[in-house]
Amino acid sequence: MCMDHSFKCNCGSEEVSITLKNEILPPETLLAVYCPKCSKGVDFNPATMVRDNGWILEYEMEVASLLAAGMPTEHKRKLSPELIFDEDYCSWRVVYPGDHIDSIKEREQILALAKVDPKRYLSEMKAWANNRMEKLRQEGWRKANDRVTV
Ligand SMILES: [Zn+2]
Repeated sequence: MCMDHSFKCNCGSEEVSITLKNEILPPETLLAVYCPKCSKGVDFNPATMVRDNGWILEYEMEVASLLAAGMPTEHKRKLSPELIFDEDYCSWRVVYPGDHIDSIKEREQILALAKVDPKRYLSEMKAWANNRMEKLRQEGWRKANDRVTV
């Protein structure tokens, strides 16, 4: 089960939805979220932080390693901020912050087609999903890229 939690970034101008896969890590694992504005003043520490397209997430790695017991062995061994992020132990709910909101809006427009033209609706839906991933990949979001083994 994935529960969603809301977090405010350090400067308070952005609120993001965070997912914690299987609730293995508690919300306290996430020490801070820095949006593209407030991440500029952050001294990046690769031991506790992961970057995603201008955003930075900072984890409490001590808590994470204590609770990593619930993870598969290969994850426990490679536990790192990247792994926590890429494997959704504590990460954006979808691909990027705000994705679930934009995604619903965009999908609603296509959904309206379903009643009028079901065939076109299906092809538009497919095209939308593909184009969207491609766009996000080009923007540089970590989760839009094929998973890189860390
Ligand atoms: Zn901020």
